[in-house]
Amino acid sequence: MASCRPVRTAFVAITAALALAAPAALSAQPPVVLVQAGHLSPGEPGYLAQTGASGNPFGLESEFNRRVRDAMIKQLKTAGVDARPLAARVEPLGVAGATFVSIHHDSPGGAAMVGHAITGGNENYYRGEGTGTASPTPYPDSGPHRTPATKVSPAVERTSAGTARRLSSALKSIFTPANGARGRFSGVIPPNSNRRMNHFYGFYRTTAQSRVIVEAGAAPDDNRFLAKVPLISRTLTTAIISDLRARKLL
Ligand SMILES: [Zn+2]
Repeated sequence: MASCRPVRTAFVAITAALALAAPAALSAQPPVVLVQAGHLSPGEPGYLAQTGASGNPFGLESEFNRRVRDAMIKQLKTAGVDARPLAARVEPLGVAGATFVSIHHDSPGGAAMVGHAITGGNENYYRGEGTGTASPTPYPDSGPHRTPATKVSPAVERTSAGTARRLSSALKSIFTPANGARGRFSGVIPPNSNRRMNHFYGFYRTTAQSRVIVEAGAAPDDNRFLAKVPLISRTLTTAIISDLRARKLL
């Protein structure tokens, strides 16, 4: 019987190895990353008046956002990510994914910063189709929103905060005078410091595990920086990839 021992041990070891391998094999699907070009037509109902800033080297904010989005989609796909482009209107409503990232730049006097979804409170409501002050409850004249809105759980907030930190430190490393940045860098904005960002409607149109919004800089102060679409997209892509790896999704 003693001679059977090594065989049995080997069998147990192989079985254990297979058991360990199984979850990895099941999660062999590439992670889905949704990259939104902020303000790019078609717009989201209830926010149609929010056409974004302007005055960057490419004109409208949506055009800068589209360029960064498209470059990121290409780079993410090369890295084995199932990257999907989104316009301002999130389709399909409630789309699932590992990460949702919305690309923007700020208006004069603004800053480079990163916001993330936080639990509690609702998406923003505005007057009409998106003017006036952001409010957690509808105004009498707020345009209708698409429903059902998705929820931000504490787990989503935690994961989103982690992604935001990685994106922010990556952006900080290139947001330098040498790269043409002249404005402020505000990093990850604290929860509830900026309703427009922490309760961005996009966070309530997806079930992605991580939901973030990036202001790459402010036009026109940071225009020399904003012109560097390849640098900005590559840097944001690298941060998204490290984040997916840290979350063991890639
Ligand atoms: Zn914007």
